Amino acid sequence: MSELDETLADLLAHGRFLSGLSSVGVAPPSAAPVEPPAAAVTGAVATGAADERTDDSAVALTAIREEIGDCRRCKLASGRKTIVFGQGNPRAELMFVGEAPGSEEDEQGLAFVGRAGQLLTDIIEKGMKMRRADVWIGNVLKCRPPQNRNPEPDEILSCQPFLEAQIRAIRPRVLVGLGKFAAHWLLRTAEPISRLRGRLGDHDGIPVMPTYHPAYLLRNPAAKKDVWEDMKTVLGLLGRPVPGPGE
Ligand code: URA
Repeated sequence: MSELDETLADLLAHGRFLSGLSSVGVAPPSAAPVEPPAAAVTGAVATGAADERTDDSAVALTAIREEIGDCRRCKLASGRKTIVFGQGNPRAELMFVGEAPGSEEDEQGLAFVGRAGQLLTDIIEKGMKMRRADVWIGNVLKCRPPQNRNPEPDEILSCQPFLEAQIRAIRPRVLVGLGKFAAHWLLRTAEPISRLRGRLGDHDGIPVMPTYHPAYLLRNPAAKKDVWEDMKTVLGLLGRPVPGPGE
């Protein structure tokens, strides 16, 4: 297959997949102006022939962002400032899934940029010795719930096809569910996070590590050691070295 044929086949495949979104009850994008494409929002860079795999995932992510459009599919649309698509490396081996944007994320249009986000950055960079830019960070919901209340079932359902599509586009080797809502979504269970954390599960063939949410760690610093245990397991799955204490 020529490069052009491959690109066309890919686009058709994405088209089929995205029309599948409509068939699961997701309204087609509204005629309202479309927000910036994924590359602008996520820092995802289409690198051309130099890295076709990155290109392929970036193209798929851009298509997903366009499908989301100026989303009005659930009641969160009326209170949000921005849609927080998620950001990072389109071909990340590791993908973190949180709950929903908070006020800082809503302002900036980026996931995990507030206090909890700073702690997540420390976990990734100081703890795991990975670069935040090399992983993908997103949320179960792409819009901020009012007063940071818990996500509601209809909101989770409305957003679900887009996170599913992002996981399929990025194809990470490992998923980390941050907190109860992400763990429940990824593992399709309602078990308490205290029982789930640290036990590897599975999301459509991808290993899932459920762990505590960084916001919980801000309130309960003693739980950081549990999260570190979980991240060591994640590093092992990725075949990466586990930094020793003080490293
Ligand atoms: N909490 C989350 O779950 N997600 C964010 O993006 C920020 C805080």
